[in-house]
Amino acid sequence: MTGHGPSTHSSDPDHAPSPDVVVIGAGPAGCLAAISARRSGARVTLLERAHFPREKVCGCCIAPRGVAVLADAGLGHVLTGAARLSSVRLASRRTWARIERDSGVALSRGAFDALLVRAALERGVQVMHGTSATIGTDGQVRASCDGASWTLRPAACVVADGLSGRSLDEHPGVSWRVSRTSRIGLGAILPPGSIDLGRGEVLMRVETGGYVGAVHLEDGRIDVAAAIDHEVLRSNGPARAMLGWLGDSVRNRSAIEAARWTGTPWLTRQRTSLALPGILVAGDAAGYVEPFTGEGMSWALASGHAAGCLAATMVQDPGCWVAWPAVWRDMLKHDRWRCRLVAQLLRSPRSVHAALVLARWWPTLAARLARTIGRPRPSTMPGQEPTP
Ligand SMILES: Cc1cc2nc3c(=O)[nH]c(=O)nc-3n(C[C@H](O)[C@H](O)[C@H](O)COP(=O)(O)OP(=O)(O)OC[C@H]3O[C@@H](n4cnc5c(N)ncnc54)[C@H](O)[C@@H]3O)c2cc1C
Repeated sequence: MTGHGPSTHSSDPDHAPSPDVVVIGAGPAGCLAAISARRSGARVTLLERAHFPREKVCGCCIAPRGVAVLADAGLGHVLTGAARLSSVRLASRRTWARIERDSGVALSRGAFDALLVRAALERGVQVMHGTSATIGTDGQVRASCDGASWTLRPAACVVADGLSGRSLDEHPGVSWRVSRTSRIGLGAILPPGSIDLGRGEVLMRVETGGYVGAVHLEDGRIDVAAAIDHEVLRSNGPARAMLGWLGDSVRNRSAIEAARWTGTPWLTRQRTSLALPGILVAGDAAGYVEPFTGEGMSWALASGHAAGCLAATMVQDPGCWVAWPAVWRDMLKHDRWRCRLVAQLLRSPRSVHAALVLARWWPTLAARLARTIGRPRPSTMPGQEPTP
């Protein structure tokens, strides 16, 4: 990021006026929440534990819906340098099928999240990097950075601290329900040419114990992200598991062995409560479903935008936090169920193999499959008119 570390603190945080809205976490959900609340007139502080730019385990594909949310929020420009995705190669065992479809764009999380933070700064959001936050049962936000800590008393707080977020740990009613069959995420960024992959192509391979996706990033590097059974990862280790799954697509074995593989917590989960007086939970922090359809960031952007608008309303009307769970469910319920269903079908590589064999000979089935694994929406792409 362009030098916005702790130096963006007010010189004396203890005596600075509390903002109207505090957002915890500067991923896609938190950035959109901060920008939307600011646009609605609130004074907003965005607290982020990490120092940017930072990479993250993610497939890095921003689906057409996410592209559309960004365009609607006046943020389409952040995707200017992104790589456009026009096909998906779905493979299992020795069979594969290519599906031509608008699959959105790919952008590294290092670049995407930093660009969103820059947009927030440009719109007047106070951003504090390297700052970890928790919310007490009294609703006050305790922030800490480099050994200093201080308290904020906002009218509204948006929690967007992702899958590993712990800022609500003190609230017993807001725990996680993790699916018994949940997998964990695994990812790395590989040097250009490490995998046999076309430009603009998303490679998805479904194997026993999970699936892996690969895509070219904006600078030619290759992002690899997988959802994997814990047992498979434990017995093989990340590099061996990925070499096995990527199979004959591997062009540079030693790059995969030398890569810095990073894991995530359990993926499929749901918060037991999405709102409390003064607090709204958005993005992955509200709940997540396995990533096969590549929509997590789109959901995070959409829910962050809605949470930011509601948080700004809470400044004048504190009671309206009660609306949030219904707003969140109306926005995402159907997409999450579709995604859950797809994740369940993928548990059987034999069925996927059979579907692929059929799809190669029956292209209309492939088109139907394409609709199932991600519902394309009309989108405004950089340099492209919205499709009717
Ligand atoms: C293997 C895998 C592949 C995926 N592939 C895709 C894909 O191709 N397309 C897609 O759209 N989605 C994909 N996703 C999902 C996507 O990564 C997430 O849905 C998305 O990052 C959610 O955004 P968020 O803003 O809710 O949370 P995050 O992006 O996780 O951001 C949370 C932020 O909060 C910060 N934070 C945490 N705790 C605190 C604290 N206490 N105080 C301050 N800051 C804190 C963190 O540092 C982080 O920056 C994938 C996920 C996985 C695991």
